[in-house]
Amino acid sequence: MPDRYAVIGNPVTHSKSPWIHAQFARATGETIEYGRIEAPPEGFVHAVETFRAQGGRGLNVTLPFKGEAFRLCAGTSERAAAAQAVNTLVLDRGKPWGDNTDGVGLVRDLTVNLGRRLSGARILLMGAGGAAQGVLAPLAQAGAASILIANRTLPRATALAARVAGVSACGYEALAGQSFDLVINATSAGLSGELPQLPTGLFRAGALAYEMVYGRDTEFLAMARAAGVATSDGLGMLVEQAAESFLVWRGIRPETGAVLAALRAQ
Ligand code: NAP
Repeated sequence: MPDRYAVIGNPVTHSKSPWIHAQFARATGETIEYGRIEAPPEGFVHAVETFRAQGGRGLNVTLPFKGEAFRLCAGTSERAAAAQAVNTLVLDRGKPWGDNTDGVGLVRDLTVNLGRRLSGARILLMGAGGAAQGVLAPLAQAGAASILIANRTLPRATALAARVAGVSACGYEALAGQSFDLVINATSAGLSGELPQLPTGLFRAGALAYEMVYGRDTEFLAMARAAGVATSDGLGMLVEQAAESFLVWRGIRPETGAVLAALRAQ
């Protein structure tokens, strides 16, 4: 019997994680089966317990359950504790244990796949939900000169910024007159064809606009292209965070280059 893993979220129908982990398993010779679990909004804990009772060994957690996954865990990694959000559950070592691989996934995509220097960069992080929580501390640790969080609901941005020294927060209207080397869209606005109101002049020379949403041409990507700025979607982050989860579960970090290239070609 292969060891069982899955991605849990709502919705998960279009998740690429099962395909990615199947490629990792093939490349590393690990015998795993990786499925999808769509949990109802109030049914996350029950779905995790059911999967675990059936022998499930680990779960990737996606929107909207990362905070609930953190609260479910008896213990977590330091990076999950800093994020107060869990995207990787380990279920086969006693009580549920959680990790967060989103931050390392993003930093690896930015620095290794996209060749960007984070050290000294002025960064704008849009959004204050689970994804922003996961990447904030790793971005700060990568040596950013400054990080500003902008969010529609200002108190969420302020609360998140307070967790990491030197990070500040604002609403979108306060961005006028400011410019950045890296603008990361960690909102889910692109999923509904929306874009927060952004001023012109947001991008410094040589800047990168990074959209965490993948697999669609969002308003944010279109706006950045129109401004003549280099862009990336979040496909590389998806593959890199998956590789880090695979490492947590199986003790082997798979190569990501071929998997990312194959996904891009699809
Ligand atoms: P979340 O916890 O639900 O947070 C959503 C965030 O988006 C909040 O800050 C929310 O602002 C903001 N938002 C939503 N609609 C908006 C709109 N129309 N205008 C302005 N702000 C809006 O979601 P999440 O877990 O952080 O995920 C965010 C996105 O990142 C999702 O699209 C997810 O697919 C993507 N993601 C990608 C990867 C990857 O590997 N590429 C990994 C993680 C997440 P309020 O606080 O004001 O509601």
